[in-house]
Amino acid sequence: MPTETVPLPTTQTAPSNQTASSKKPFIRRHLQDRSQRLRHTVQIVFLALNAWLGVQFYLWVRYFDTYGESPYVSRPAGVEGWLPIAGLMNLKYFLVTHHVTAIHPAAMFLLVAFLLSSLLLKKAFCAWLCPVGTISEALWNLGERGLRRMGLRPLILPRGLDIPLRSLKYLLLAFFVYVVVSMPAAGLEQFLEAPFGIIADVKMLNFFREMGVVGISVLLTLALLSLLIKNFWCRFLCPYGALMGIVSALSPVKIRRDPEACIDCNRCSHACPSNLPVAQLVTVRSLECSSCLSCIAACPAENALNYALPPRRAPQIPLATDASPAARSLALSNARWRLRSLQPRTVAALLAVIFFAFVAVARLTHHWRTEIPNSVYQQLVPNADQFNH
Ligand code: SF4
Ligand code: SF4
Repeated sequence: MPTETVPLPTTQTAPSNQTASSKKPFIRRHLQDRSQRLRHTVQIVFLALNAWLGVQFYLWVRYFDTYGESPYVSRPAGVEGWLPIAGLMNLKYFLVTHHVTAIHPAAMFLLVAFLLSSLLLKKAFCAWLCPVGTISEALWNLGERGLRRMGLRPLILPRGLDIPLRSLKYLLLAFFVYVVVSMPAAGLEQFLEAPFGIIADVKMLNFFREMGVVGISVLLTLALLSLLIKNFWCRFLCPYGALMGIVSALSPVKIRRDPEACIDCNRCSHACPSNLPVAQLVTVRSLECSSCLSCIAACPAENALNYALPPRRAPQIPLATDASPAARSLALSNARWRLRSLQPRTVAALLAVIFFAFVAVARLTHHWRTEIPNSVYQQLVPNADQFNH
């Protein structure tokens, strides 16, 4: 069969003003997208894990609250994943002294695991693992369905309001980072080893157990806003997500649009929970991208969107001279993205490997559990309200 060598076009700049009527061949995706099913499964597993940790922690606190009247369960160290400030403090302490503190060490290991996942896979932590993100997503799906049933459209904030609101979470993060960075190592150790530091997790639980009118009103307002506005908490207020976003800027893997395969249908932009204009970008560099892959799931064109390393630049592939434009286009885009794209199952597997590797290292080095005698907890836990910083 006669062949010719076709140089591939570069994908570094987007063609300007391409419309759906442009003459690029449309090659429909041949495999059904299962990324969202997999992502939701991972989210549910992680939510269930956190619920189990929460119940176990509650029973542990109750044992001390009742002075041993209720059954004893051991304290689940994983609950320290909910102590990001303690994680930051421990991380700074470790970087300065090269020692792991005895109080809430798991908080640091979990924080570093999630930071590493952001470094490799953008903010995949937010869209695949975070239980708050999962609840927020469930609320907006519920709200969207309800609004559509009423014949209404979900609320989309104007750009002029959206961007300043997004910066709120970075301001919150800057405040926490400033507090931690400005404390000397000795001060951090003193803080963590004080009664308030030791039972910071109990204080957090008590906040929810003894929530007053103000707390309930704030929670209900957040839930209502999450029903009406996509991803409200994550996009505007979560400092943890802001930290993951900043680290994610260094990630080599990004959502990348192939302008040669894209048919400019704009479905990706509509699907994006972060309201990113995916259809107008070649590479999604935004700190707001959570690697949810919803844009790819919505895309009808083969290879038009990839969660990938940068594509191959102008490789040469042999093509039959009588190949149709569609066959040529497909062969070229396959060549550009071969061994560059990350499949959803790879994302799930990498997240699991990072998570379990850090837990294993912490356990094997005996830095997973906070080692405080039960006699100390018995003095502190029932009197938690008395300890403030
Ligand atoms: S760009 Fe794609 S992966 Fe990133 S947040 Fe938007 S839909 Fe999710
Ligand atoms: S969904 Fe986005 S990337 Fe896919 S074809 Fe449409 S505009 Fe292009």
